[in-house]
Amino acid sequence: MVLRLVFLGPPGAGKGTIAQRLCEAHKLLQISTGELLREETGRGTELGNKVKAIMESGQYVEDEIVAELVENKLKELGEEKGFILDGFPRTIKQAGILEGILNKLGLKLNGAFDIEASDETIIERLSGRRSCGKCGKIYHLKNIPPKEEGKCDKCSSVLVQRNDDKPEVIKTRLETYREKTAPLVKYYEEKGLLKVIDANGKVNENIQNVETILGVIE
Ligand code: ADP
Ligand code: ZN
Repeated sequence: MVLRLVFLGPPGAGKGTIAQRLCEAHKLLQISTGELLREETGRGTELGNKVKAIMESGQYVEDEIVAELVENKLKELGEEKGFILDGFPRTIKQAGILEGILNKLGLKLNGAFDIEASDETIIERLSGRRSCGKCGKIYHLKNIPPKEEGKCDKCSSVLVQRNDDKPEVIKTRLETYREKTAPLVKYYEEKGLLKVIDANGKVNENIQNVETILGVIE
């Protein structure tokens, strides 16, 4: 079966890391709205300049903007290739927009994973997180260190800290998540798509837990 998944969960629970690894293993396309937006801000496009301040404050970008980025990616995909939507939808409104896009393309989701972790885990992970400025690969100073300090294993570029991983912004991101995105858990539960993953453990264990559930879906 072609996997078409949505990943929910608070910032720092490890959505992006788990999605990255699963996409490599199963040849899926990872559609990370956060990454797509950071590419825009990095390139200094009109859209990027528009969303930069909102992102750096820990709030959400307008639904229509992210929806368009996602729709463009999904259109390129074709029916045979699966995907993980990592960080979209994040509001009930976005979930409705996504349904419209998928209906139009004749595609159907087959799972919504809620990647959960405690506040303590989240803060520890976000404050130690670094990522490659060029290819986006994610590291953690303690938990997933690069082979050579400060350098990407894959492409040797410099590792950077995201502006929104600073302590003052982490708090706002958690609040935004609770207010706007947590209600989606119930939304997908009612659709019979929800799988909850306790992601407080080690990355490999968390991935194994998702793989076990995927084995049942596939
Ligand atoms: P995290 O999930 O760890 O907060 P992301 O990289 O997924 O990090 O997202 C970073 C920022 O990008 C968010 O704080 C928000 O400003 C913006 N963003 C990403 N996805 C969406 C979305 N679906 N809707 C609105 N804003 C988004
Ligand atoms: Zn890299």
